[in-house]
Amino acid sequence: MASLWGGIELGGTKCICIVGSGPEDIRAEARFPTTSPPETLSRCAEFFRPWQTLLTAIGIASFGPVDLNPASPTWGYITSTPKPGWANTDVAGVLRSALDLPVEMDTDVNGAALGEYRWGAAQGLDTFVYLTIGTGIGGGGMVGGRLMHGLVHPEMGHIRIPHDREADPFPGRCPFHGDCLEGLASGPALEARWGQRPETLPPDHPAWPLEAHYLALALVNFICVLSPQRIILGGGVMQQHHLFPPIRAKVQELLAGYIRAPELLSDVEHYILPPALGDRAGVLGALALAQCAVAEK
Ligand code: ADP
Ligand code: ZN
Repeated sequence: MASLWGGIELGGTKCICIVGSGPEDIRAEARFPTTSPPETLSRCAEFFRPWQTLLTAIGIASFGPVDLNPASPTWGYITSTPKPGWANTDVAGVLRSALDLPVEMDTDVNGAALGEYRWGAAQGLDTFVYLTIGTGIGGGGMVGGRLMHGLVHPEMGHIRIPHDREADPFPGRCPFHGDCLEGLASGPALEARWGQRPETLPPDHPAWPLEAHYLALALVNFICVLSPQRIILGGGVMQQHHLFPPIRAKVQELLAGYIRAPELLSDVEHYILPPALGDRAGVLGALALAQCAVAEK
């Protein structure tokens, strides 16, 4: 019998849990809203309980910021998140003690990046970015074949981009920085600026050219800093697939032919693209995290 693993994608809005060994072998799946930490984490534990003896390890891909320093006493905690009730929450420890299984954890975006690397749109690459545009904006991925970590972990959603307040008077809604990228272009930022949920805005609404403009500015920064071989854009807001062509065009316009890579000049459709694993990238990546953790030990 194939070994089984557990994967948890803990998002700012919803939580997804699966049991399986890969995209073709998912034995159970549950989705529920991310409410308070005790309620959400016990729902996760209850989901895995019937599988407990069959599981090798659990992987968690979580919204953040998260403490990923193995030497830290608060490894596996969500730290300074603006999400009410979740700051300083011991996510990994609670699940490890509830299920008595090894637990591996990374950011939601590094999880999704690993899922796409294993089974999706980043196979065979060693340097790429996975960006989610959802409740928050976050980026992860690999540099030189390793998931990006560092001092803490990248916080690509909180970069500063040009904000023309005459064209867009919305002040931004990041509680830490106001008009950082997340403050201007996350799902809740769209909702606050336009007074309706982004999923209800029609494709010809002025929200979308502005959104593509901000995202393209951000991508150009990531391209210049990291030189990714591909950029995958996921998250709820990118369900608006009509955003891809204007984002690609604006990236090309902003780079102005300076970076002489065919991927950027003539094959940009395969350079900036949606996750091949769709909205399961994060949770499958969590499963892959669990598998890597066991393989490394
Ligand atoms: P999470 O952030 O919990 O991982 P999502 O990536 O689904 O979850 O992001 C949720 C955000 O994306 C919300 O702000 C929601 O309004 C927005 N969103 C969800 N679906 C769509 C859609 N089809 N079009 C535009 N925005 C969407
Ligand atoms: Zn910010």
